[in-house]
Amino acid sequence: MTSRTRIVPEVDFDKPGQQRGFLRLFHSVHSSAYGYIPFPIVVLKNGEGPTALFVSGTHGDEYEGQVALCNLARTLQPEAIQGRVILLPAANLPAAVAGRRTSPIDEGNLNRLFPGDPDGSVTEQIAYYIEHELVARAHIVVDLHSGGSSLMYVPSALMQQDDEDPARNAKLRAALQAFAAPVAYIGHAAPGQGAGRTTGGAAMRQGKLALGSELGGTGTVTPAAVRIAERGLRNILIHFGITEGQVEPQQTRLLDVAGPDYFVYSSVPGLYEPLVELGDMVRAGQPAARIHQPETPWAPAVEETFANDGFVLCKRIPGRTVRGDCLFHLGTDVSW
Ligand code: ZN
Repeated sequence: MTSRTRIVPEVDFDKPGQQRGFLRLFHSVHSSAYGYIPFPIVVLKNGEGPTALFVSGTHGDEYEGQVALCNLARTLQPEAIQGRVILLPAANLPAAVAGRRTSPIDEGNLNRLFPGDPDGSVTEQIAYYIEHELVARAHIVVDLHSGGSSLMYVPSALMQQDDEDPARNAKLRAALQAFAAPVAYIGHAAPGQGAGRTTGGAAMRQGKLALGSELGGTGTVTPAAVRIAERGLRNILIHFGITEGQVEPQQTRLLDVAGPDYFVYSSVPGLYEPLVELGDMVRAGQPAARIHQPETPWAPAVEETFANDGFVLCKRIPGRTVRGDCLFHLGTDVSW
């Protein structure tokens, strides 16, 4: 492992038992010349076996996964596992504490900054550490996301399809099925985002398996979303042989989010009126939303339409919108 990280872990990844501590990211500022930012980490190790890395708080305003990993950090015992489990519940800690998608220190969006930079900004340094020190040690990575403040999802788990590697895809599909969310989807990198900049991209570069989730959103937590996350993580540990037991089966609807035309954007600024709900089936050409101008209420409303048939997987939450905001995205049913 050739890593040039400057971050100093308080935990020893090879020590048996349970360790709780912090990754020290040194950050010299006006109020604290020699201080560090403490990213919490839990390592559980027992004997030989695969390593699971569970991450949340990559986006600080996505809370469902953070709740699930807090619960797991308190309850999972090393005697219950065979192998290693690494928990990073607040991956972008400054963003998580602020309840924001991005870091208030450098505006860094952790899930757009992989592979990171060991000499870069705070968020670039943690991205580098996650990819080169944590993902590099893992066999399976689960990064728990949700819609955050601006989006709401039908609770789902997801995988990034790797068109170059069918064997890896088959393993990812099996893990996705084991996660047993009500909906699972295959992503192909959101338009313009580039999968390489996400945790999934980090895992691909490191030759590791990675799943994601979109557990809900709106900057809140529901008991149902937390249950889905916790069942998913339990099932993943069983699926990879890290804990004993039976994967709890569940009917999972598999969707493909196949291209840019699955996304509907606002073409004008204004107040957005959604015309469909999450979980609806829609047709190409169907109106998705109207955008009103309350400042000029008699002005004609602008209609945005779906360009594809599909299942409404995600919708925008805030009513005010500007040109370029994503209002909806779809998925289409595919078979397992
Ligand atoms: Zn996210």
